[in-house]
Amino acid sequence: MEERVFKINSKEIDTTKKYILYCMESSQRIDYNYALYFAVKLADKIKKPLITVFNITDNYKHSNIRYYKFMIEGILKLREDFKKLGIKFVINKNSYTEGCKKFLKNASVVITDTNYLKTQRMWREYIGKISDVAVFEIESDVIVPVRLVSNKQEPYAMTIRPKIYGMMDRFITSIQITPPKIKSENFDIQSWDLDSVDDYINQLNIDKSVKPSENFIGGYDEAQKLLKIFIEEKLHRYKDLRSDPTVDYQSNLSPYIHFGQISPVKIVKDILKEYHIYDENVKSFFNELIVWRELARNFCFYNPLYNQYNGIPQWAKQTLEEHIKDKREYIYSISELEEGKTHDQYWNAAQRELLKTGKMHNYMRMYWAKKLIEWTKHPKEAFDIACYLNDKYELDGRDPNGYAGISWCFGTHDRPWQERKVFGKVRYMNDKGLERKFDIKKYVERFGRC
Ligand SMILES: Cc1cc2nc3c(=O)[nH]c(=O)nc-3n(C[C@H](O)[C@H](O)[C@H](O)COP(=O)(O)OP(=O)(O)OC[C@H]3O[C@@H](n4cnc5c(N)ncnc54)[C@H](O)[C@@H]3O)c2cc1C
Repeated sequence: MEERVFKINSKEIDTTKKYILYCMESSQRIDYNYALYFAVKLADKIKKPLITVFNITDNYKHSNIRYYKFMIEGILKLREDFKKLGIKFVINKNSYTEGCKKFLKNASVVITDTNYLKTQRMWREYIGKISDVAVFEIESDVIVPVRLVSNKQEPYAMTIRPKIYGMMDRFITSIQITPPKIKSENFDIQSWDLDSVDDYINQLNIDKSVKPSENFIGGYDEAQKLLKIFIEEKLHRYKDLRSDPTVDYQSNLSPYIHFGQISPVKIVKDILKEYHIYDENVKSFFNELIVWRELARNFCFYNPLYNQYNGIPQWAKQTLEEHIKDKREYIYSISELEEGKTHDQYWNAAQRELLKTGKMHNYMRMYWAKKLIEWTKHPKEAFDIACYLNDKYELDGRDPNGYAGISWCFGTHDRPWQERKVFGKVRYMNDKGLERKFDIKKYVERFGRC
């Protein structure tokens, strides 16, 4: 546990104040929430009540019903679970910094969870700066804490894999969150408590044009159901079928993992109850859930340009720019792309899967982003459009995985390949590959029509 704890400022705990403050953001759950676990233990140790604050702002990138509905569904269930623990759960209609700031005056110590993106890191640093007391950040949403794995940006999955696997065992231990000794649920603090998700949505000034997903309901209970289905019905074929967009052999857990509604440690532990760690399918799944996911966190933590074209490797930038003058057969506007109106029926189907469900299949995400390089005048434009569409429509968007995934399509974490038109030495994908590998017409039948 201690290895997950990082002290943001150099201030001390002040036991004369009223409570311990946990500012929840990235770990929106109780189970395997290491930040909450740390907060409860500390509350018991210094004999203070614990209050948890969750801020909901309508002023964040791509605030839209799709992801607010999903997030608030999870939060309302969490509010009930906190009641059972006897911990005051305060919902605040405010930004993270302003919302947390309101509670600093009476806090003996502040606990936060961890986020690897620039804006969210700045929020925490700001709280650390303006707080008069100690602020601790707990790495709650990874198997191995990012700073421990490596002190630099790792170039490839193969360089980070042995580092993570070498330390993993000691981070997949069980934790049990018990009710704190001092109850706080009746603490006299105003919370923005409304009855339903719709009530919240109606009071938020958010984009109502991106419709909620037809496929996903938010909350830890829903994540658990999907995990159970995955372990019982899909995992035994994962290695062979995870890449096939015409079947459903992925876990579909990414929206839940993104909002911290389920912990990767919990996923790993549940799988290891049923499967051996050396099973080929488990190895393949852990390679995605642990190695690629934590490589994405390493990338965002150490590369400040993670969400920009300029953040791709030098060799990739050079080769792409040597081919800028190559003739592009098709150039599409952002609205043609957004509506899935290109000449390519596979790409359109992928875009429509995204619009409708809020989650594009992994293999199609690679094809989808690669094609943008072909259909725009400059790879920077392609990169920006990929980020825009990914962040606006993917339920799991605005996540290190998204920026690392897009950047991978532009050469990050990859090697140079045989040189060709437009792409230079950056890996290329084409429709023939989809036709050769999968019964891709089935995918078009599912999502291809308007
Ligand atoms: C262009 C592009 C954009 C992407 N955008 C996102 C995004 O916005 N959010 C996001 O979570 N993932 C993104 N990915 C990675 C990957 O496509 C998704 O994580 C995966 O499809 C989610 O579905 P799942 O949970 O059913 O996956 P599963 O195959 O069941 O994998 C389980 C978990 O492992 C992790 N994982 C799987 N594949 C990857 C990967 N390639 N890189 C990092 N972690 C991975 C995810 O947390 C995922 O939930 C992107 C990939 C590409 C190529």
